[in-house]
Amino acid sequence: MRTTNSRAYFKSAQSAIPGGVNSPVRAFRSVGGDPLFIKKAKGALLEDVDGNTFIDYVLSWGPMILGHAHPSVLNAIIKAAKQGTSYGAPCQAETELAKLIIQALPSIDQVRLVNSGTEAVMSAIRLARAYTKRDSILKFDGCYHGHADHLLVKAGSGIATLGIPDTPGVPKAFARQTMTAPFNDITATEKLIHKHGKDLAAIIVEPVAGNMGVVPPTDEFLPWLRMITKKYEILLIFDEVITGFRVHFGGAQTRYKVTPDLTCLGKIIGGGLPIGAYGGRKDIMQMIAPSGPVYQAGTLAGNPVAVAAGLETLRQLKKPGVYNNLERKSKMVAEGLGEAARHANIPYYQTRVGSMLGGFFTGAPVTNFASAKKANTDRYAKFFHGMLQQGVYLAPSQFEAMLVSTCHSNSHIGHTVSAARKVLKIL
Ligand SMILES: *Cc1c(COP(=O)(O)O)cnc(C)c1O
Repeated sequence: MRTTNSRAYFKSAQSAIPGGVNSPVRAFRSVGGDPLFIKKAKGALLEDVDGNTFIDYVLSWGPMILGHAHPSVLNAIIKAAKQGTSYGAPCQAETELAKLIIQALPSIDQVRLVNSGTEAVMSAIRLARAYTKRDSILKFDGCYHGHADHLLVKAGSGIATLGIPDTPGVPKAFARQTMTAPFNDITATEKLIHKHGKDLAAIIVEPVAGNMGVVPPTDEFLPWLRMITKKYEILLIFDEVITGFRVHFGGAQTRYKVTPDLTCLGKIIGGGLPIGAYGGRKDIMQMIAPSGPVYQAGTLAGNPVAVAAGLETLRQLKKPGVYNNLERKSKMVAEGLGEAARHANIPYYQTRVGSMLGGFFTGAPVTNFASAKKANTDRYAKFFHGMLQQGVYLAPSQFEAMLVSTCHSNSHIGHTVSAARKVLKIL
C-alpha cells in the first residue's frame, strides 16, 4: 500500500499541530505507524490522499451512522448554509431538533444544545451539582465522558491507548471530587455510595461502555443504578453521546428501559457537524440560565448548519426498518469475524449491542475495564495493520468500538470477513 502522501502530510502536520493531529485517538500511537490522511469519504468508504480506499468501521467515531456524505444530509447542510451559517439569535430549526430529541428519548423533557459531547457532559455535571447542592461525582473506570477536568479520571480509550494515567493539568482538588468504581460492579459501587452517597451530586455512566472497547451492561447494572441513585437522591446521568440514536432511536435508555435524570448527547445528533446536547427532567433543566441561575452559554450553540445536518440525520433514522437493518448487518459482521477467529484458533471475545461491536483478543469474558485491559494489544495492532492492507479501516486501538452504518452493504461485509480470515490466519 502506497502511503507517500500521507507520510509527507503527517510530517508537515507535526511541525504545526501537537503530534500532528487535532484529537489524540487519530494518531496510530497504540498500533504503531503513521495515520492516513483522508481526502474524501462517501457512504461506507474512506479514500486517503494516496488513492487507497477503505471500508470504514470508525465512522468519525460515531456520527456517520448514515455513511459519509449522505445525499439528503448534504442537501440539508447546503440549504441551511445558503441562509447564513450563524446568527447568534434563535432560529426555528433549533426547536425542531429539540422536539425530535424530546420525542425520541423518554427521559428528556427539555434539552439544551451545545457544541460537543465534552461540553454536554461538563454542563450536565455542573447542573447536577447545582441541583443537588453537592460536589462529588462518581464515574466508572474506562468510561470516557469528554475531556473536562473532573472527568479525565480513569477515562478509557484515548488515555488508555496512550498509557497516560491521570492527566497532568487537572488540579488534585478537582480529581478528588471524582470517585471511580469498576463498570458493572454493584458490590464495589454500593460500598462507595454507602460511604459517600450524601456527597454525591451525580453518577455518570455510559449505559453501554464504548470507550474501553464495547462493554454491555449486565442485566442488573442499570436498573440497580437507577434504584440506588433514587434512594440517595443522587442524579443519574446517562452519557449517550455514542449510544444515543445508535443502539436504538430512543438510545440505550429505551433499549434497556431505564430512565436517567439527565442525558448527554452528541455525535449522531449533528450528522457529522459539531454538536452536543444535554437534557432531562424539566424541574432540573429549568435551573439553567436564563430560566435559572446555572450559567451555560455558547456563541455557536444551536448552530443552524449543524442543526440542519442533525435534523435530517434523525429524520432518516426515524424511517421504518432502519434499526432492524443495522442490526442485521452488524450481526453479519460480528458472526463473520467470530467465525474467522475460531477458524484461525485465535481467542477473541466478542461483544455487541446493535451496531456497536467489540472484539477483544482474549479468551476471558470482558465485563469491565480491568478485564478489557487483559486483551492482547500487540495482536490487535497486527490485526489492525493487516486489515488496513486489505482495505478495511478499523479503530487504531483495541479499546474502541467497531461501528456499522446503513451504507455497509453485503459485499462490504463479505470483503471485511474474508479480509479477517486472511489476516487472522497469519497472526
Ligand atoms: C465522544 C464521547 C464524548 C465526547 O464528545 P466530543 O464531541 O468528542 O467532545 C463524551 N462521551 C462519550 C461517551 C463519547 O463517546
